[in-house]
Amino acid sequence: MGMLGLKIDVDTYWGMKNGVPSLLQTLKEFNLKGTFFLSIGPDNSGRAALQLIKNPLFLKKMMRTKAASLYGWKTALYGTLLPAPMIALSFPEIVKNIINAGHEVQFHAWDHRRWQDELSRKSEDWIRDWFGRGMSGFEKLTGNKPTAFGAPSWTINDRVLSIIRQYNFDYVSCTRAKAPFIHESINTVEIPSNLPCFEEIDAQKGVSIISELIEDEGIHVLPVHAEVEGGIFQDQFRELLKRTINMNMEIVPLKTIKDKLDIKNLPARKYKMELLPGRHSACAV
Ligand SMILES: [Zn+2]
Repeated sequence: MGMLGLKIDVDTYWGMKNGVPSLLQTLKEFNLKGTFFLSIGPDNSGRAALQLIKNPLFLKKMMRTKAASLYGWKTALYGTLLPAPMIALSFPEIVKNIINAGHEVQFHAWDHRRWQDELSRKSEDWIRDWFGRGMSGFEKLTGNKPTAFGAPSWTINDRVLSIIRQYNFDYVSCTRAKAPFIHESINTVEIPSNLPCFEEIDAQKGVSIISELIEDEGIHVLPVHAEVEGGIFQDQFRELLKRTINMNMEIVPLKTIKDKLDIKNLPARKYKMELLPGRHSACAV
């Protein structure tokens, strides 16, 4: 039987407040569990406006996904004209609801936007501080340390890996590679997202494209965004879950995939950075 892991990223204040409750409802109706990767700290989404000027691919993506209708106009101003609100730290009750519903909860970000846009120019001290704040916020919210990390926008570098070594994560999910592997520099299992997200493909054909990709019954991980599948694409997401269940695939949190992997026989290698279709910047693969 094939497996589909649900990797649900929460990137914004709007997604935490509105998208997560909507996804919790959907998963409850289908009696499914997934892994929520939480952004803990400030929502600086408004700083994306700076990217519009620097990166034409980003503008294209914003137009295609109708960013304003996805996240609302306020999100577009956070961290610029409006102060940046805390994401998970503003909603301790919602974090409890995720845990009480039996889902896996892991660490995604302190400041998602800054990582996404500025990681390549940031010092080791900055990265260390980013992890320090995020990990302690996570612990405050959940009472536990996270056992996995999913890097924002699948962006990592060697400095990041050398810093996360100290956290001894059970696994990381930082890439868009085709299959699980071991990050050779830190000897840690990588469980990649190997399917496209709805926002990267034609919205009308999204359900068919993704369900065709999982027909081979292998191990797959679907990247889900609270802002998207818990918002304007919720109907498509439900349709995809229905089809996947009908294909007899088991839908699981990522830790279940980790437990089933034959870790001794996974290839060990270094990640590469690659520009994937529908993305505006390179992802680790
Ligand atoms: Zn994210």
